[in-house]
Amino acid sequence: MKIFALVNPSLFPAVLEDRFRSVLVVGTWIERHCASNPNLTHSELAPPMVVEWSEDRGDRAGIVWTFGGYDFLCSREVRRALEGLGGQFRFEDVVWNSTVAGESTYYWPVPRKVVSIDTALNGIESELVCSACGLTRHRFKLRPLTLPAEQVDERDVFSVREIGVFSPVFVTEKYANELTGLRLPNLRLLDAGLVR
Ligand SMILES: [Zn+2]
Repeated sequence: MKIFALVNPSLFPAVLEDRFRSVLVVGTWIERHCASNPNLTHSELAPPMVVEWSEDRGDRAGIVWTFGGYDFLCSREVRRALEGLGGQFRFEDVVWNSTVAGESTYYWPVPRKVVSIDTALNGIESELVCSACGLTRHRFKLRPLTLPAEQVDERDVFSVREIGVFSPVFVTEKYANELTGLRLPNLRLLDAGLVR
């Protein structure tokens, strides 16, 4: 069974002029002190997503991407449409950094399911983030991925723990077909690998 990643259409292929506006993430990270060196901090992404509109001049679509990223926000209408497909997403709050942008309500859809992959099989390397406490992170990889069949249902939405618990968002072929049927604006489904 195939899987697809939900991506910003303007990144694949990358185009200079965005048709739709994106947002800049300005304050989603939690800082915590390093376990071994209190002068160091390690940051982690956490809800709510604090954003502001980027300077690009496109329209505000029902799906809004973080600039250059794989997190997206959705309007109330798009949230309803996604909920119509089932409870695969939870919807985290979005906080606007500037009041001029607050006229629309947007949510941050996050997959309820997080799966784990075999990093060796998928060629995902680790890098040392902090030499004081030995914190490591996996290098980012979008595709192609091979996922374990026992963790993924036929009609599923998930993130991958080793790549990012919030994004990218992956869906199975069956869910992808239903998502395509919704004809949501500003969304592309990118072939991202297989479940086997
Ligand atoms: Zn550390």
